[in-house]
Amino acid sequence: MTEIFQREQEIYDTAILHLEERRNGGVFSLEFHEQLVSEYGNLLEELRILAQISDNAIENLNSSNVDLRDKAYLDALTGIYNRRSMEERLNHEISSLSRSETGLLSVLMMDIDFFKLFNDTYGHGAGDECLKSVAGTFNKSITRIDDFAARYGGEEFVIVLPNTNERGAQKIAHRIIENVCNLNIPHEKNAVAPHVTISIGSTTGRVCHTHKGTDFTGRADEALYISKKNGRNRHTHLDMKV
Ligand code: GH3
Ligand code: MG
Ligand code: MG
Repeated sequence: MTEIFQREQEIYDTAILHLEERRNGGVFSLEFHEQLVSEYGNLLEELRILAQISDNAIENLNSSNVDLRDKAYLDALTGIYNRRSMEERLNHEISSLSRSETGLLSVLMMDIDFFKLFNDTYGHGAGDECLKSVAGTFNKSITRIDDFAARYGGEEFVIVLPNTNERGAQKIAHRIIENVCNLNIPHEKNAVAPHVTISIGSTTGRVCHTHKGTDFTGRADEALYISKKNGRNRHTHLDMKV
């Protein structure tokens, strides 16, 4: 690049020199003029190519940045939000709901039943496919623009439902249990059904400014524990403690 600008400066200096010569009575050779124009044309062409290369590089960088940003927010296996972005978004929802008089929030925690036995029976690869299919049902089960699903870790997932009461949370939970059953993924070691099933715990509460995301996920986890204890493939709801 530097070389091109140096050459351009030389051509410019030579052209000026010859113009001055002419002003002082010298003869301006047509042949020399043509040579200058041709050299300048070649330089322009090189600059055009370099500008194109630089445009392409910027385009590639921009799309790599978008990829990296998506990778930072999404779970690599299932493509839904990862735990970190869920926590960020949940805390953001909590701070905006706490400013509203009627800010209700529901949170669901979900865990696949006897998933260790699924891996042991069908292999880790089949386990990964199962996780993808189950995660795929979540976005089908939620409807509002503010609702979102995330992988919390391993075979555990979270769904956040802003401005949703207990009835709304129950409806989504039952829809998820049904949609996971309907996947009909064989699981012969599942003690409660011949296919893959999921247990759910949920909570609903009026949001106040002292709440943290973990207050909601923790309470939903308590409800999930009850679902596991009472036989799995079911949903339990607990109100948020006041
Ligand atoms: P429960 O019904 O009580 O939930 O039993 P469980 O077997 O589902 O629970 P446990 O916590 O004992 O086992 C979870 C299993 O999930 C163990 C682990 O190997 C598997 N797991 C976690 N992450 C992944 C993953 O990314 N891919 C696969 N294939 N398996 C995973
Ligand atoms: Mg688990
Ligand atoms: Mg499990």
